[in-house]
Amino acid sequence: MLINYKTYLIFLFGSLAVSIGLQMLLPWPFGLIAALAIFIVFPLFLRNRALKRMGGMGTDAGSGGGGFFGQGQGVKYICLACNNRFKGGICPRCGSKMKRADF
Ligand SMILES: [Zn+2]
Repeated sequence: MLINYKTYLIFLFGSLAVSIGLQMLLPWPFGLIAALAIFIVFPLFLRNRALKRMGGMGTDAGSGGGGFFGQGQGVKYICLACNNRFKGGICPRCGSKMKRADF
């Protein structure tokens, strides 16, 4: 599985919440159709993105501080100290190691 499991769960519950909201906002057939569309589109969207990243496994490794897989090409990070977007292990602007992955 190329899909990040945690990301998938977040999207799954997020789309669940949205679909419940749609049931309330829209009359019956449209709410159901919209909810189904979300459940179909979200996994496809995630899958495409995971494939583009090519082996996006271990993107959570950044929490350990410069994880082995965290240096993968194509993965960018946002510095928690100065919000600078960068690649690699350390923020080039302020030198902070505190970062989060930017998908
Ligand atoms: Zn920084």
